[in-house]
Amino acid sequence: MSDSFTPGPLDRDATVYVAGHRGLVGSAIWRRLAAEGFTRLVGATSSELDLKDRDKVFAFLAEHKPRYVVLAAAKVGGIMANNTYPVDFLSENLQIQLNVMDAALEQRVQRLLFLGSSCIYPKLAPQPIPEDSLLTGHLEPTNDAYAIAKIAGILQVQAVRRQYDLPWISAMPTNLYGPGDNFSPQGSHVLPALIRRYDEAVRDGATEVTNWGTGSPRREFLHVDDMAHACLHLLEHYDGPEQVNVGTGKDSTIKEIAETIAGVVGFEGTTNWDTSKPDGTPQKLLDVSKLAKAGWTARIGLEEGLRSTVEWYRAHQGELREK
Ligand code: NDP
Repeated sequence: MSDSFTPGPLDRDATVYVAGHRGLVGSAIWRRLAAEGFTRLVGATSSELDLKDRDKVFAFLAEHKPRYVVLAAAKVGGIMANNTYPVDFLSENLQIQLNVMDAALEQRVQRLLFLGSSCIYPKLAPQPIPEDSLLTGHLEPTNDAYAIAKIAGILQVQAVRRQYDLPWISAMPTNLYGPGDNFSPQGSHVLPALIRRYDEAVRDGATEVTNWGTGSPRREFLHVDDMAHACLHLLEHYDGPEQVNVGTGKDSTIKEIAETIAGVVGFEGTTNWDTSKPDGTPQKLLDVSKLAKAGWTARIGLEEGLRSTVEWYRAHQGELREK
């Protein structure tokens, strides 16, 4: 533990900067903080403050002087986008996190939470993936650029702890879903893509849906409201240089997930699996024992979480992100 950390509630009247507060994760964290009584939340959209603009980021933090920062801004995308635009994923994420963390250091921000992703772990890491498998093997090549940027972020948090004794921390969420997700054909991850596909089939009266692969890979999904809850819990209770995995500790096959989504949206037709398309890695599950030891476990079950996500998706037609 760093000398400057005492476990316990954060000051509800302190200024909290949530970078990326309109995104899936950032908006959930913002909602959670507001519900928990934080009165001074600050955020800026990417058009108001491009976090790649170092001078503007420094000026923003100097103006608001946040005591706490949650770094949930990033260039995020599915496998296709990551594989096609590796330069953008590497360069933009390095710039965003470097600028925010350097400016936060200049302001001596007391608590900063950096968010990475489970793709930081080696492609052949043991399952469930423990935190200490970081940097023990080769990355999945389709998103290695993004992963390297995120690994650099973890290292930056550790370096700040070492050199400045500030109790900054990192959390690595599993696949997330929920209200505010990206449902666009280009930018979506697997779960929102499935929701969109099944919901469109219901609206179009289609009798068949075809998904990629065999449906047998196992994946873990955490509702973003649970994620936000875990983030606040870690900020109040966890202090250590090692990143903390955030997940449910349970996985399902893509086929099971697709069936649950079909049931939730009311699709009664047939699902085909296009086995000529790649499956990706057979299993990806985080070891969440460190998080459990820190006192937090997930609460929102998959079906319950999918219901609220589908409701949100249907209520926000016309306002959804387009890429
Ligand atoms: P989103 O795409 O939903 O949100 C990203 C946010 O980052 C947006 O609010 C966007 O702002 C902001 N942003 C991006 N580029 C810039 C920029 N140049 N300047 C200012 N703001 C910028 O992503 P998520 O919420 O899903 O992801 C947030 C974090 O959580 C990431 O670090 C990601 O790695 C992590 N994560 C997400 C997972 C998931 O399944 N979604 C899984 C694991 C980790 P604006 O809307 O104003 O353009």
